[in-house]
Amino acid sequence: MRIDQVELRVVGLPLATPFVAAHGTVTTRTAVVVHVTGPDGEGWGECAALPEPTYSAEYTDEALLTLRDHLVPRLLAAASRGSRGVDARGVVSALADVVGHPMAKAALELALLDAEGRATGTPLAETLAPHPPGPRVAVPAGVAIGLLPSPDDVAAEVAGRVAEGYGRVKLKIAPGRDVDHLRAARQAGGRDLALLADANGAYRLDAEPGSPHDARRLSELDGLDLVCVEQPLPADDLLDHAELARRLATPICLDESLTSPSVTEQALDLGACSVVCVKAPRYGSWLAAADVLDRCRGNDVPAWVGGMLDTGLGRLANLALAAHPGASLPGDLSATDRFFTDDVTPPVAVEGPAGAGTIAVPSGPGLGAALDPAALQRLTLERVVVRR
Ligand SMILES: [Mg+2]
Repeated sequence: MRIDQVELRVVGLPLATPFVAAHGTVTTRTAVVVHVTGPDGEGWGECAALPEPTYSAEYTDEALLTLRDHLVPRLLAAASRGSRGVDARGVVSALADVVGHPMAKAALELALLDAEGRATGTPLAETLAPHPPGPRVAVPAGVAIGLLPSPDDVAAEVAGRVAEGYGRVKLKIAPGRDVDHLRAARQAGGRDLALLADANGAYRLDAEPGSPHDARRLSELDGLDLVCVEQPLPADDLLDHAELARRLATPICLDESLTSPSVTEQALDLGACSVVCVKAPRYGSWLAAADVLDRCRGNDVPAWVGGMLDTGLGRLANLALAAHPGASLPGDLSATDRFFTDDVTPPVAVEGPAGAGTIAVPSGPGLGAALDPAALQRLTLERVVVRR
């Protein structure tokens, strides 16, 4: 694709209620939205970096500068070489000399994937799952629930979400708000609820035995029939995760640790995890994430697609990835109005009965839905245009 300009917008979406996790609290979801245009068409992408560098080193304001000063100029240079410019498969190598910043890189790749899909009439889900049996047409609805003050609050929240159609709940946990909260979730959601816990790295194997941070205490989760406990230890502790996995009956899933497809393979080989959370922005590439799902499918490794409190735009992309047949477990795929009171895309809804709802995978070209121009304008905090 030939590219004339890349527009970068910081949007700010107020959350209906603050989202609290072990790594911090989000009250307004700022994100960088990317719009690539040229003589061959246009495409949209979103950078998943959170407002603060608490999930990983990337954050919204930094991502805007990295895109403006380092990544977009390299993409424009690659797009001006030869007569056909750069395609989505060439984005990773065009940006390879910039170290790190996977979420900012993935935003540009997504914009090109969207542009190519629009140009050829191909839905993103088909681009990401080109081999038989191809993508699903709908995915099970799943929701992430942030840290809440008490087990009673958790029970009320879980009951409400199940009634809305969610059959899968991921509950954020932290030292002091873990076993009792998950027990309340299990009681409120019933035994058919697919229940996961996400610790965002808040526990330690070398903590004082019996202290709230002691990861050995997580063996108390073994009676709760969890799908998995996600990222119990810090991101770089693969060997400790393998040690913890030997002590727990509950499967361990990794998220923050899995920074590349090769690290994902190493983690599985070491026994540091037996379930994989796939996030394309964390891998720096939607195509690489689809490759991980291919490999999980080929090796019978359970996997699911995780979200990043995405705006409607990022959620469309995650729906397309979650339609991949390698995503064998329900992921973080929620109705868009579940978190935000206003959004850049028309709402995506959960359909179906309590506890068994699904969300339709977009079937239109590229991301499959148009952004709402008025909403985009309303929610834009800052706009930068980088031209060739
Ligand atoms: Mg996580």
